[in-house]
Amino acid sequence: MAYIKIAIASGQVTDHVAAIIIAKLGELGIESFEEPGDQLFGYLPENAEKQNEIHMFLDKMMIPWKESRIEDQNWNAKWEESFREILIDDKVMIKAEFHKPEVKPHYVINIHPRMAFGTGHHETTRLVIRIMLEMNLKDKQVLDWGTGSGVLAVMADMMGAKSVLALDIDDWSVNNAGENVKINEATGITVRKGSLEAAKDDDFDLILANINKNTLIENAETLVSRLKTDGTLVLSGFYEDDLDEIKNKYLKFGLDFEQKKTENDWCSGSFLKKS
Ligand code: SAH
Repeated sequence: MAYIKIAIASGQVTDHVAAIIIAKLGELGIESFEEPGDQLFGYLPENAEKQNEIHMFLDKMMIPWKESRIEDQNWNAKWEESFREILIDDKVMIKAEFHKPEVKPHYVINIHPRMAFGTGHHETTRLVIRIMLEMNLKDKQVLDWGTGSGVLAVMADMMGAKSVLALDIDDWSVNNAGENVKINEATGITVRKGSLEAAKDDDFDLILANINKNTLIENAETLVSRLKTDGTLVLSGFYEDDLDEIKNKYLKFGLDFEQKKTENDWCSGSFLKKS
């Protein structure tokens, strides 16, 4: 099948707006995305039903875009070529099932590459994993809020968590997380569609929240209320410049700041709930 490639000048909008655009284009039938540099490429099968709606949506967003046709090709092979495995601190590998790695780190997470976020190619995922590696997760009750591909939930399960609740509001992510839980045989994970209300019956020893600045700030009080005393909260998905604002908000609800990790301009921070 031939595909249509839509190149969008996503560098002209904030990350938050880009995320909204990706979500909407996913609903309109774009099957996969690439984000090389300042651009966003979306691919959809030729003659897809909602091509006109996509054009109208992009025009309404006033974001420059152009379209081209790509001749039929072997999409699996193309994906294999472009999706590289990721190694984090020589300890964690995130890879597709078809990768045959030469090294065998302690944790090997298989991801079925789909539209969900969380292949390890983004700084924010790697930063959370680096913080997790310094923790003891044995028998802990974990919440992975905004699970995407489920990568952090799988990592927590591999590290010996007693149970992991993985939440996401996006159907694609819920499906992909379910798929990845299965291929990693991560039996301690429950994937559920929803935001924090879907976690209201439990308290957690560890909460992982790699989402975005606004969502983290708006939900601070609820998030802290789901954390057990002596529990740890790891926040990610924001820039280092925004850490102070996030810290102020969470310290107000009684948490102590523990540490930050940064990569490029991205930042993750961990907090502790004292008695
Ligand atoms: N945890 C993964 C994915 C992070 S991307 C990783 O670390 O790589 C953030 C995810 O949060 C997206 O899949 C998005 O759909 C989800 N999300 C955004 N707002 C949410 C909310 N209010 N509740 C639950 N999930 C949310």
